[in-house]
Amino acid sequence: MSVFTKLLVPAACGALLLSCQSSNSTGKETALADSTAHADSVHFAVFTVDTHVDTPMQMMDSTFDLTETHDAHATGSQVDFPRMKEGGLDAAFFAVYLGQGDRTPEGHAEAKRRALAIFDTIHKAAERHADLAGIAMTADQGEQLVEDGKIAMFIGMENGWPVGNDLSLLKTYYDLGGRYITLSHTSNNDICDSSTDKEGPEYGGLSAFGEEVVKEMNRLGMMVDVSHVSDSTFWDVMALTTAPVIASHSSAYALCDHPRNMKDDMLKRLAENGGVIQVNLLGDYVKKMEQDPARDSAFAALREKYPNFGDLSPEDREKAREEFRALNKAYPKKLPTIADAVDHIDHIVEVAGIDHVGIGADFDGGGGLADCYDVSEYPKLTEELVRRGYSDEDIAKIWGGNLLRVMRAVEQAAEAPSAPTASM
Ligand SMILES: [Zn+2]
Repeated sequence: MSVFTKLLVPAACGALLLSCQSSNSTGKETALADSTAHADSVHFAVFTVDTHVDTPMQMMDSTFDLTETHDAHATGSQVDFPRMKEGGLDAAFFAVYLGQGDRTPEGHAEAKRRALAIFDTIHKAAERHADLAGIAMTADQGEQLVEDGKIAMFIGMENGWPVGNDLSLLKTYYDLGGRYITLSHTSNNDICDSSTDKEGPEYGGLSAFGEEVVKEMNRLGMMVDVSHVSDSTFWDVMALTTAPVIASHSSAYALCDHPRNMKDDMLKRLAENGGVIQVNLLGDYVKKMEQDPARDSAFAALREKYPNFGDLSPEDREKAREEFRALNKAYPKKLPTIADAVDHIDHIVEVAGIDHVGIGADFDGGGGLADCYDVSEYPKLTEELVRRGYSDEDIAKIWGGNLLRVMRAVEQAAEAPSAPTASM
């Protein structure tokens, strides 16, 4: 199904478009209402995908129910199925995320064990709610699920730590539905240098093993994700990859000079590669806000107390969440806005073109804007795109068309891909 097929399907959307065109737009308010109605009709019609949600961290807690509506501010949860429906989000890449740990045989074995447990949790959730959602192994399967009225659950792995130094594990994770791997997280690993390792670069880009990882991912049909990696790793990947790559959750360095963000020459190179950068909605990567040292030190102390969320028992995890919520209340964080995030989209469009930008919010992993704090508020982002003059076709590309194009190119570039088996 093309990204526009859905545009033609729902009768309500057609009606909205018609009423939009035929109304007497005399006053400013009517014009605004018309523009909102138009934005909503487009938003709910096009295929929409967020390429990075850390919701599996919530799902690992057995009391978390994806089919319940959660209050984002009260519970900290930013994604569930009812709010995806409310926010018109058709699909998301659920992240198999692990913070970097020991790079020893024991550490790598532990990373593998934990990654497999997260894959299992995602698959079990899809099986449990097969009437509402399914795992998508291919771009086509994602679109088919949405056409069937279901939520498409893609899987991406954040951090190559669970690959350790065993190339064969890539196939293991591919077979479980992993369709991208963010090569590193915030520290260097056996694959490459990270953009934020406190010790600085270790290889000056990809390691020799990392080069093999990129080749094997190309061969299997897994998207190489360059979010989090160092600039030199990015350039090494560009020189090596035979397929387009993604930055699953990154923003523009020109607007927010965090080492995690992508510089203009990188954006241009990504466009030449045919890839896509999915704008991140995590405040620190969107806009530098006024510092609050009291908040920073309070949170630093709490992060030191709970360095690895995944290691906690369910009770301790809830206790930690409670403490984070209390701190957030005591020191409310100043967040950037949708307008700030769309500035990044504008900039990337200017530098790389409309075919190379999308959205990867980092919800449930620190993402969230003042006026788009959870997935239910996504229609407001499309309203801003409409206000800035993006066409329906542009919006379809940003919300999913570009990502699907890249995913298909990666699937096609794969050597003898094994027949995917979806558990829908
Ligand atoms: Zn991340």
